[in-house]
Amino acid sequence: MINEFFNPVKELAKGLSIILKNGLKNRVTLKYPEEQEKVRNNFRGKIKYEKDKCIKCGNCIKVCPAAGCISINEYFSIDMSQCIFCGNCVEYCPVNALSHTVEYTLAQSKKDNLILKEEIYGND
Ligand code: SF4
Ligand code: SF4
Repeated sequence: MINEFFNPVKELAKGLSIILKNGLKNRVTLKYPEEQEKVRNNFRGKIKYEKDKCIKCGNCIKVCPAAGCISINEYFSIDMSQCIFCGNCVEYCPVNALSHTVEYTLAQSKKDNLILKEEIYGND
């Protein structure tokens, strides 16, 4: 009978002590998107393409495991909705025309907006 009364009180006290203990710790979450976590310089984020360096060799297309992700026609394009951020295109580009940025907030309201085209980088 006594246990039936004290056990819930004990559990409540235990719960409150956990809340108080964690409430006094420094916050580990960020107020996203206003605050964003800094990533390392070698982070594989959004791909950057530099038209002036590109020799249109097509290596990036050959080494990309995501079929149809990169295309070179009238313009160079990368479909970031297909990209798996493996880094192959960056590594095998012979003239360093491709690089990873540290940008990781890529969400878009329209899928088409995830297709990065040459014009996006303002090289024209
Ligand atoms: S990072 Fe990988 S998946 Fe993404 S475009 Fe380059 S090769 Fe393709
Ligand atoms: S591998 Fe580099 S140089 Fe070759 S087409 Fe791709 S971006 Fe251009």
